[in-house]
Amino acid sequence: MSNYLIKGGALADGSKRDLYIADGLIVEKGSAITHPAIASAIVIDASNSLVLPGFVDLHTHLREPGREDTETVLSGSRSGAAGGFTALSAMANTSPVADTAGVVEQVFRLGQEAGLCDVFPIGAVTQGLLGKSLSEIGAMAQSAARVRVFSDDGNCVADPMVMRRALEYIKQFDGVIAQHAQDPDLTQGAQMNEGIVSSRLGLRGWPAVAEEAIIARDVLLADHVQSRIHICHLTTAGGVEIVRWAKARGIQVTAEVTPHHLLLTDDEAISYNPVYKVNPPLRTQADVMALREGLADGTIDIVSTDHAPHPTESKECEWQEAAFGMIGLETAFSIVQATMIDSGLMTWTDLVNRMSIAPAKIGKYEKQGLDLMVGSPANLTIVNPSLSWRVDRDLVKSRSRNTPFHGLELPGVVIATMFNGNVTHG
Ligand SMILES: [Zn+2]
Repeated sequence: MSNYLIKGGALADGSKRDLYIADGLIVEKGSAITHPAIASAIVIDASNSLVLPGFVDLHTHLREPGREDTETVLSGSRSGAAGGFTALSAMANTSPVADTAGVVEQVFRLGQEAGLCDVFPIGAVTQGLLGKSLSEIGAMAQSAARVRVFSDDGNCVADPMVMRRALEYIKQFDGVIAQHAQDPDLTQGAQMNEGIVSSRLGLRGWPAVAEEAIIARDVLLADHVQSRIHICHLTTAGGVEIVRWAKARGIQVTAEVTPHHLLLTDDEAISYNPVYKVNPPLRTQADVMALREGLADGTIDIVSTDHAPHPTESKECEWQEAAFGMIGLETAFSIVQATMIDSGLMTWTDLVNRMSIAPAKIGKYEKQGLDLMVGSPANLTIVNPSLSWRVDRDLVKSRSRNTPFHGLELPGVVIATMFNGNVTHG
């Protein structure tokens, strides 16, 4: 294992510190490293750059097992490393579904074999994601994968009694239920946000209330059983208001927003290009502004990518037939810089909180989301905020190309990523 000197970089608070890395740990930190082995270190030039704790994604679709043609744990890990991530959370909607200890251990081992970041499997709440009977939640929690986050993502846990039982169950080991808030009856056949654009295009609408009604119900249920709920990919101003209200009441709720919902609106659907078709859908400019405000004031705790790889044939077709979802690991940092930092809404310390510290806390990922202190594992990312780059879907590390940002010039370049003291990107 090599030792490294990260030289000339600034930390999130702006202070300049060099870091000496050996045996996977931060061994020394300061303006002049004095370690006796410094001469043998590989020097990483971080001048004009920021050295930040590695990003942690709480919501990633890695597609293995079952759809290895679109992504594998290895290709997804490469994509994550390129985006500055040192931990991903593999959603359970694989084939077979990750609803047993066997499947979550398989995904966990694939992540370890890939060795490019931590891959924490998320367990399904219900068997087969069908919303009826609880999956092997206890066995998954006790497995080698030590699952703490459970989600039927892709599907909503619609039955309130099932949600109540799940919330009661996960209390035993301080787990959390991550809810994909979408009332199935209110969104049958829905294709995009319900509003002016959907009526104009003649596409079946997806009303904000379908998301907000489930969020409201679930924060009340979490309060009632005194358990932890996490709201996936918030998209509406009303949803932000409900979470703000719930937090003020002391309810144990956390929430996430995706980079694409921080930037894009339902106007994109006017192109009929299915690359913009996503679940939950892109909303209005007023929603985008409320999401940014919610992320800045901490109502929304974290940014998650909802990286959702799909094959070309599922995205280059008619809007109605196209699959929902976008890839996002490699563009997440730049979109957050563009929408939240360059706009003056957040500081770099806030960004570290929303993209590393807070997601690691929610998922109970103990070796992730830590301050860059002596003795901490060297999980970090080096970014240069003053450089920009042009997104090219043909150059992504993901196996899929369904990025809505193709051709766009974005600020912020991930110079290097380090996972447990090994360089995984750069
Ligand atoms: Zn989802």
